[in-house]
Amino acid sequence: MSQQIVILGGGIIGLSISYELSSRGHQVTLIDANDFASQASWAGAGMLPPSNRETAVHPYEHLEALSNQVHREWAKRLLRETEIDNGYRQCGSLYLARSAGETASLIGAIHEWEDRQIENEPLDHNSLQQRFPMLAGAFANKSTGKAVFVPNAAQFHNPHHAQALLAACEKNGVRLLPNRQDTQVHAANQQIESVLTDQETIHGDQFVFAAGPWTEGLLNQFNVDLPMQPVRGQLALYRLNENAATAWSEAPLINEGSRYLVPRSSGHVLAGATIEEVGFDCQTTPAEVVDLRAWAESLSNELGPEHFVKAWAGLRPGTYDGFPYLGRLADFDNAIIATGHFKAGLQTSTGTAKVIADLAEDKTPEIDLTPFSPNRVGPASKHD
Ligand SMILES: Cc1cc2nc3c(=O)[nH]c(=O)nc-3n(C[C@H](O)[C@H](O)[C@H](O)COP(=O)(O)OP(=O)(O)OC[C@H]3O[C@@H](n4cnc5c(N)ncnc54)[C@H](O)[C@@H]3O)c2cc1C
Repeated sequence: MSQQIVILGGGIIGLSISYELSSRGHQVTLIDANDFASQASWAGAGMLPPSNRETAVHPYEHLEALSNQVHREWAKRLLRETEIDNGYRQCGSLYLARSAGETASLIGAIHEWEDRQIENEPLDHNSLQQRFPMLAGAFANKSTGKAVFVPNAAQFHNPHHAQALLAACEKNGVRLLPNRQDTQVHAANQQIESVLTDQETIHGDQFVFAAGPWTEGLLNQFNVDLPMQPVRGQLALYRLNENAATAWSEAPLINEGSRYLVPRSSGHVLAGATIEEVGFDCQTTPAEVVDLRAWAESLSNELGPEHFVKAWAGLRPGTYDGFPYLGRLADFDNAIIATGHFKAGLQTSTGTAKVIADLAEDKTPEIDLTPFSPNRVGPASKHD
């Protein structure tokens, strides 16, 4: 039976849930305080790390693997429905280690890939130079370092993906309400009753809270405490010259420790990212950008200072244990939480859409959501 579902927060999570629910025939209203997908969902890098559903054990591994599978399907479906290409491509991922510490942690990652039967291919210095000549700077000193290529990794252009989702939602009849500031949520008798925006009162059968790190503030309005931590990430953008752009257009994601390069088919390369707990401050800082650039420019001569374009930052929605909050809020009949995806919300947005739509329809989701319960942090209600 078709339901009226109100979703608060139109980042990648709220948009994906809107798309899934409206495709299943529900009447969806999507509200955002700003433009849709203008925060972390725009700022992020669009990497889709490898997974294997067959060997997945923990529900989080299932969520990653389901999400990767749905990404493959949605890229084609969104192109068909909206004519917007979201840039999805299985580009693989190259992992580099140039210090003893990084080498130790890469060896740990290799063990994990082996356990999960995720294909990985160690590369010696010569094969690295042959296959990825653009990384000439990476191993200037032949005697140190380790490199591994993992083919089962992909990327997509997240701003284009968000545009495609928005267009598909519009086609499906989703009521899209951007730039609604100061939203007030009214709850009584174990029910969310309505949402009051600066322009109207909106009623619904169910309410999904998907406002990234701002979800905590929304829930506080009706005395529910769900601790969240915004975690800033800064990125630098380079534009390659024409010759280099062709060579890089098929290049993999390149990782070293917490740093990475994401080569886009447009001839741009993203270099990321910092991990900083500085509250809701979304500015870039000169010191961190200099640091990121020094790292990126040490890997390739083609990323010289003259190719640097700009830097930006976004706020990842962090939780205390690193797992997202996905589930129904205890003590309320019609409140569903979908947030806290931290560093992997672009990847896990598609699987999240599936399991949240199942919950809204009172079906058992195909993934065990117990570790993601929003009630795991203790009694959700506070402020008597
Ligand atoms: C630098 C960086 C790189 C990243 N790279 C990757 C990556 O490669 N792969 C990956 O999987 N993930 C990546 N991420 C993480 C990913 O971007 C996030 O996990 C994801 O975007 C979170 O999506 P969201 O919809 O929950 O949050 P957001 O994108 O923050 O969206 C929340 C929305 O809620 C709205 N909102 C706020 N207050 C209200 C309110 N009161 N009412 C209604 N709406 C409200 C906001 O305007 C916003 O549009 C990266 C993040 C950063 C910062």
